[in-house]
Amino acid sequence: MPEIVEVEIQVEGLYGLIGDRIKDLMLGDRGEKIIRPFDEDSFRSFVLGKEIRDVTRVGKYIVMTFEDGLSMVTHLRMTGRYTINVPENKIGHTRVEFFTENGLSLRYSDVRLFGRISIIEDLEVLRKGADALKTDSSQLAKIIEKTKKKDAKRRKDRTVKELLTGQKVITGVGNVYANEILFRQSLYPGTLLSELDSTAIEALAKEIKSVLSWGYQLGGLSLKDYYHVDGTKGKAQNHLNVYKNSRCQRCLSRLKNSKDFDGRATYYCPRCQS
Ligand SMILES: [Zn+2]
Repeated sequence: MPEIVEVEIQVEGLYGLIGDRIKDLMLGDRGEKIIRPFDEDSFRSFVLGKEIRDVTRVGKYIVMTFEDGLSMVTHLRMTGRYTINVPENKIGHTRVEFFTENGLSLRYSDVRLFGRISIIEDLEVLRKGADALKTDSSQLAKIIEKTKKKDAKRRKDRTVKELLTGQKVITGVGNVYANEILFRQSLYPGTLLSELDSTAIEALAKEIKSVLSWGYQLGGLSLKDYYHVDGTKGKAQNHLNVYKNSRCQRCLSRLKNSKDFDGRATYYCPRCQS
């Protein structure tokens, strides 16, 4: 599943659309599922002839804002991706294809059809927790401290794994990067937030930033269906320490795999992360 790093790389790949205009569009096989709740006619009326003034990212949403202030907002979910001028036979599963005035073919492909392309006016409805890429580590540490205090007041607690993958506090880390962050910090995924002191919180916040920027430098994770806009793939998946590995890279212990911490596959070393 594309996470914030992969969405950011997609967005940067789409900057070339700024100033261009959508001339036509074509729905592919079951493309009407992607543009729900709109039907093809109303969707066309929102986008055709419009100039794209801006391409941005809000959390895990790709936002293209038109000259009239409306935005076309895409969530890639499990297997969505945009490509530009990449032939259908290379990526496959085209659901929507846009044609621009400058002669570009912008293709939205999605094997599993969970992605959505919508039209909205107010981007505020998209905002959730602090954006993991745009927020610096000291700010992230403050947000985690605040969450810890709030949890204590409500007599609640959460595991660090939940803190990283739940989208409400910090948006966009995602499961695979969360596995990597915890391994690098030698943190047991079931550690409770209440058990972290400020030094550990600061270190965790720094690790979030450094793992995400490491992923970004490697072009993101291409575990299954994630491609760059030009049809190439990321390389971070080849350098993961724990996710889907069988042995710890550090001590060679057999890794454990559990869904107990946040409902997602968590790989960890029982020796290094205890
Ligand atoms: Zn180990």
